[in-house]
Amino acid sequence: MRGFDLSVMSVIETDTGYIVIDPLVTVPVAKAGMELAYQHLGRKPIVAVIYTHSHIDHWGGVKGVISDEDVTSGRVMVIAPEHFLEHAISENIIAGNVMSRRASYMYGNLVPKGPKGQIGSGLGQTTSSGLISLIVPTHTIVQTGQKMTIDGLEIEFQMTPGAEAPAEFNFLFPKYRALCMAENCTHNMHNLYTLRGAQVRDPKAWAQYVDEAINHFAGRYDVVFASHHWPTWGYDDCVEFLKQQRDMYKYLHDETLRLANQGYTILEIPELIHLPADLFRAWHNRGYYGTVNHNVKAVYQRYLGFFDGNPATLHPLPPEAAGRRYVELAGGAEALLAKARQAFERGEYRWVAQLVNHLVFADPDNREARELQADALEQMGYQAESGPWRNFYLSGAKELRDGVLDLAAPKAVSPDTVRATPLEMFFDLLAVRLNGPKAEGRTIVLNAHFTDIDERYVLTVEHGVLNYVKDRQADQPDATLIATRAALDEVVQGQATMAEKLAAGEARIEGDPGKLAEFLSLLDTFEFWFNIVTP
Ligand SMILES: [Zn+2]
Repeated sequence: MRGFDLSVMSVIETDTGYIVIDPLVTVPVAKAGMELAYQHLGRKPIVAVIYTHSHIDHWGGVKGVISDEDVTSGRVMVIAPEHFLEHAISENIIAGNVMSRRASYMYGNLVPKGPKGQIGSGLGQTTSSGLISLIVPTHTIVQTGQKMTIDGLEIEFQMTPGAEAPAEFNFLFPKYRALCMAENCTHNMHNLYTLRGAQVRDPKAWAQYVDEAINHFAGRYDVVFASHHWPTWGYDDCVEFLKQQRDMYKYLHDETLRLANQGYTILEIPELIHLPADLFRAWHNRGYYGTVNHNVKAVYQRYLGFFDGNPATLHPLPPEAAGRRYVELAGGAEALLAKARQAFERGEYRWVAQLVNHLVFADPDNREARELQADALEQMGYQAESGPWRNFYLSGAKELRDGVLDLAAPKAVSPDTVRATPLEMFFDLLAVRLNGPKAEGRTIVLNAHFTDIDERYVLTVEHGVLNYVKDRQADQPDATLIATRAALDEVVQGQATMAEKLAAGEARIEGDPGKLAEFLSLLDTFEFWFNIVTP
């Protein structure tokens, strides 16, 4: 099913039913996709769901195709690569707010759809919105060469952790001579760094896995399909596709380091690297999603970090302080704008954006600066081949013109993912929410006992940080919270407050309740719609 969502869902016929691969982002969209399949292929039971990897666009819609009961009754198995669950959940927790806000730029969520607006993501349409679900895998695959037969259909797996995703696998259906490359080979240059913000990926491992797939499955497939875009047909074309994908990532990796070793830096190297013609002329290597420019920066960052080694860039002034001084240097706002308008007329949009950004950060109320900056960003958006680049530019332009709108924050948590989140990850998030300066000089020791899962923790605030330890209780805590995990989940989802749970007797406090209140008062709440293109 293509065109339903950011990702694609594939349906594979077994002896008596179907295997569903990657049930899209949200429940209603996956359900609609499955209905389309039933309409054309006939209604048969789903015997298994495969999650190719831990990214949410490959599992969030699972309850649109199967139910919890299908799985608990043993009618349907759910198969995923090793460490799927921890990565599926952890990716969006402790940096979740900033990643989600930036993702709104990357996918152009607020940009109207149309020729001058949002026209897709480069990886698929865009992310659908609706209920996100999760059913925990029943079967985990751990090694390359591992085989499994589901309802008469054999599958052979290849593990690819730490390339496109931290938990991912490719697999072959020998009977159909069909190879699924998950999201490791799609019809675009993928992201080594994703602009919403994420840890950078490993292009060397990525290329090695593709090479391993070429060798391991050699001669055994006539079609390659993936979790985004369309299949490639015919063995020779498939191998050419895989080799070109492999060498594109390899080239970016090796060339970046070649030039870095010669002393070129993070802003210089991307201007120097161009893929060889037989790589860049392949449509599936085009930068519709990732780009040579930002992927090369990712390789630099992976090996050398943010600093280019030049002490002049070690401790530059931050944007507002630098902006005021650049505006003064230019001879004031009017003089800066006059120069920028001339550059705009010459089509030097990158320079306009760099220059006018100083004025916008020095004086965000300068309407002319905001409009000119928006004009420049829009031109770069129209020129961009990459969906995320276009969406970033057009989202930035929109907020320069309209300001940041006072919208409701998108619902970040779904009941299924909250339930599946280990308490340690939840305490990691609380530690991130702890306001260090406010907590400075205070010591708070809390015991927590979650009765329904019988887990115990000690939480300690000291030196402005929160530490926690599992399976322990402090001898003399300031307070002890006794609650069910279920009650906590409701509080986390905003369905109830801790005060309501205490009043209802689903939670109670021993010791000094004031200390728990003091702890809660030290936690920041993150605003979703923070400024990006203005200070
Ligand atoms: Zn995906």
